Amino acid sequence: MAQLLEVERLSCKENIDTETFVEITKKVLKAGGVEETIAVDSEGKVIGNKVLCNVLIRLGVKKIPVSLMNPEKVFYSLEELGFYDEVLGTPFRVFENSEELLYKGWPTPLVRLRSLENGSIRVWGKLEGFNPWGMSVKDRVGWMMFKNAIEELKKPPKLVVEATSTNTGLAVAAMCAIYGSKLKVYIPNTVSKTGEILLKIFGADVVRSDKPLTTDLIDEVEAEAKRLGAVSLNQFYNDVNLETHLRFTAKELDLQVRKAGLNVKAVIGGLGTSGHMSAISIYFKSRLKDIKTYGVVPKKGSTIQGIRRVESGMKWLKYTELDGVVEVDAREAAEEVVFLTRREGIFLGLSSGAVLSAYKKLIEGREIREGDVILVLPDMGFKYVDLISELLGL
Ligand code: PLP
Repeated sequence: MAQLLEVERLSCKENIDTETFVEITKKVLKAGGVEETIAVDSEGKVIGNKVLCNVLIRLGVKKIPVSLMNPEKVFYSLEELGFYDEVLGTPFRVFENSEELLYKGWPTPLVRLRSLENGSIRVWGKLEGFNPWGMSVKDRVGWMMFKNAIEELKKPPKLVVEATSTNTGLAVAAMCAIYGSKLKVYIPNTVSKTGEILLKIFGADVVRSDKPLTTDLIDEVEAEAKRLGAVSLNQFYNDVNLETHLRFTAKELDLQVRKAGLNVKAVIGGLGTSGHMSAISIYFKSRLKDIKTYGVVPKKGSTIQGIRRVESGMKWLKYTELDGVVEVDAREAAEEVVFLTRREGIFLGLSSGAVLSAYKKLIEGREIREGDVILVLPDMGFKYVDLISELLGL
């Protein structure tokens, strides 16, 4: 007979590749639940479909549908599996420690931005700058990559190395602070002085390179990790990046959108590692019909901290089909940051400004005509005041 068993009572350790993980995730999301049970023996040991069991656990469900000996066809919805429980938030916002402040502080806000609205379109900004540590979309990824490293090593790493354009570095630095690890970060020469100082304040040892892109530093950092006996988390290749955004960022956005009764027609967001937009695109294209997803990159020759051009290589875009990639230059991004600040009092970072600019270009091109549009806004503007001042002569 089929029943739901608490996740803690099962173990389904199984090595599966990312492609399989994504395929099964899409199937579960499309169905809005699970259509088959996992066979267990009389002692509760998993004897069949360990792959599905493993994927469900990695997606953060609280209960697993099982049956004795043979799998059965019984449908359990995502809600019944406790899929959304981990992003329900903490109403009075009292937390036991800094780590809880992060993962029990979710969801990050989704706020309507009326000054961007046009005709029958409504616009909503997902403010990832409301994460507590580096105050960006990368706090989630730094947290999970570090936790994963602890799980593999069975203890916190002594030394971590990472190539970063600031935000991942700050997130990992926070985890290093909490767990007593040391951090050495490698930044490209395009990172602002403010970013470098922030990383130092967070306790990281900072090496500034003369190369322009964070991805230019990956090989060097891998070699350094070997030489120093350090753990390299490598946000560009570590699949935990994609998984984190599927499990938390996209999932909580799904919940917010449904609670608010939105009719989402498009999601727009920047591309750096491609972690958050690949995950959001995979997720929402599985959950909703007629939804378009767009990536935002810097125009050729322009630099916008956090995002980069697709041809520089992005690991996870192959698992989804974006409906377009919009190019924006740094000045356009800065202008949009100032526009929104002066209209709504919300001061966003430059890659968020690029997302606002991309949205306006898509509206002008009549690519988006109606419904609710979600803009994923990676951080706030306070890290970029010098750059914005330079770009706009303020
Ligand atoms: N914007 C900012 C400010 C970032 O720091 C990053 C990533 O570091 C991004 C956008 C891109 O996010 P992702 O790496 O998930 O593509």
